Amino acid sequence: MKSAQIPGPNEPLTISESENPRPQGTQVLLKVKSEGVCHSDLHLWEGGYDLGDGQFLKVTDRGVKYPVTPGHEIVGTIEKIGENVSNVSVGDDVLVFPWMGCGECPACKVGNENLCDTPKSMGLFQNGGYADYTLIPDSKYLAKLDGVDPDAATSLACSGLTAYTAVKKANQNSPEFVVIIGAGGLGLMGVQIAREITDAKIICVDLDDKKLETAKEMGAHFTVNSKDSDTVKKILSICNDKGADSVIDFVNAPPTVKTGLAVLRKRGNLILVGLFGGSLEISLVSIPLKSITIQGAYTGNYNDMVELLDLARKGVINPVISKRYSLEDANAALEDLKARKIIGRAVINP
Ligand code: NAD
Ligand code: ZN
Repeated sequence: MKSAQIPGPNEPLTISESENPRPQGTQVLLKVKSEGVCHSDLHLWEGGYDLGDGQFLKVTDRGVKYPVTPGHEIVGTIEKIGENVSNVSVGDDVLVFPWMGCGECPACKVGNENLCDTPKSMGLFQNGGYADYTLIPDSKYLAKLDGVDPDAATSLACSGLTAYTAVKKANQNSPEFVVIIGAGGLGLMGVQIAREITDAKIICVDLDDKKLETAKEMGAHFTVNSKDSDTVKKILSICNDKGADSVIDFVNAPPTVKTGLAVLRKRGNLILVGLFGGSLEISLVSIPLKSITIQGAYTGNYNDMVELLDLARKGVINPVISKRYSLEDANAALEDLKARKIIGRAVINP
């Protein structure tokens, strides 16, 4: 098998060749058809996350070991199965649930492996889908595509799933207005999902007019380019000067969080999703006086991924796939994402 691996932080990916693994027990060998290129792969490539004030959270301090094969949005065809696999068969096209946990901790016990204390996520803590074949540790992490387009389905394992979790959290506030910051891979899924599962008017914010145009096509009622100095004023005037009930920040950097807090209505909730990072000073009294909630959202669970596949099968959500690369062009795929050239998602077709 061929894998595009990150040898170490900021080093170009190299193709490594090895024997195809033989699946045993509950394991499954997948022939990768399509692999989504997520901004989180860029953070892995850069070696970690910006904590602000000159601090950096290294992924190696979280348990990542280089060289690593990135890729957590994996769709493939089952090539071989271990002797204990019965829920899927050779030849099935499947989407992988990559947010694997230990199975023992309180989160895993209630089915939220994505929030496991000792995560084993694919494309991070174990090799992922930037490869022509990949070994899945347990067939219970697979869901059959049953008619969903393979390239589109990749998005449902991360960008769609994370957006789904975030929009569900926003929806707990019965929002009249939802602000979605960032119209990238995650944000565009967020717009479509919010359109489907909330009654809210959706205001999408980004720096790039092209991405905002796509957000409108995907169902955003209003768009605001945050390059303008009066972003906050514009958003507030859309919300009848009362503010937004919910803000989902798919960027999560100091300027976007400042905007989010400034447009949040009394009783509002701010959901931080992006990992762009940095740090921010917050004036504390406004939190109790406005009774606001600031919360995080991290990916989603297996059942939500299956629900999303169903929504995609019904044509309710349509992930935007704008560019396709070969495995050999994995470096170009990441560079293009970094340079903000990708609308929605790019995929690698090994
Ligand atoms: P992307 O590169 O596809 O999209 C990012 C978007 O944000 C782009 O449209 C860009 O123009 C916009 N943007 C950047 N800076 C901005 C600013 N200051 N103001 C307004 N818009 C700005 O990225 P993506 O794949 O959608 O991922 C977004 C972030 O979410 C990444 O940091 C990624 O690692 C993170 N992520 C988090 C989770 C989670 O579970 N919490 C899961 C997946 C990805
Ligand atoms: Zn991702």
